[in-house]
Amino acid sequence: MKQISEGVFFIPGQDEMIPDSHVYLLGIPDSDDLSLVDAGLMGKGRYKIDSIREAGISLSSIKRVIMTHTHLDHMGCLGEIREAIPHADLWIHENEAVPLENGDEKTVYGMDMFESMCQGQYGIKPGDFCFPVDRKLAGGEALEIGGTTWELIHIPGHSSGSIALYHPEDQILIPGDTVYADHAIGRFDLHGASGPQLRDSLLALADLDVSILLPGHNRVLANVPENYIRQTAEQWGPYLS
Ligand SMILES: [Zn+2]
Ligand SMILES: [Zn+2]
Repeated sequence: MKQISEGVFFIPGQDEMIPDSHVYLLGIPDSDDLSLVDAGLMGKGRYKIDSIREAGISLSSIKRVIMTHTHLDHMGCLGEIREAIPHADLWIHENEAVPLENGDEKTVYGMDMFESMCQGQYGIKPGDFCFPVDRKLAGGEALEIGGTTWELIHIPGHSSGSIALYHPEDQILIPGDTVYADHAIGRFDLHGASGPQLRDSLLALADLDVSILLPGHNRVLANVPENYIRQTAEQWGPYLS
């Protein structure tokens, strides 16, 4: 686990055939009010829990898991994480929380072919990701997390309930799978995705002052160039209409 700022820690994903999402731990360690952002792929919970323990952080101080969205590479090991931290609440945007609570896992798998492949390969059963959601997020909330304040922004496009977390003081953006390093963006062909919505969400993020970009995969960016997200949105614009 690497420290990004006073109240932000980074646990890199360990990709296999399918990517494993990064996890971020938010909050001042002494606050006893920490949050995990995302979980990761099936089987990728144990090492993340171990790395939190090895950093001297007590699992009892983690009060919730916030999902940037509910794709399998972020949700797959949520069950493992919840076993290790059973008291932690689960926060998901309402657009993906409500279907999950109703047994609809279409967003988790993104496409039917992938669902049958994963269920065969990993022994997952239908309903394995239908967790009760403790708080349904809307967008626009100010979240107080362990002595740090984050703005929650709804950024549909990669999925219908994708969210970003933004820390204005330190100019840190956690955009899930919406925008990455190297001017890459999230795919927009899966269930609930929309190219035009993704373009609008990128343009909304482009209005923020961002110095540190902490995406769901690949490199984190410590010195984000000015207008990086706007240039990314413009480069991809023709493909997103
Ligand atoms: Zn995704
Ligand atoms: Zn992902």
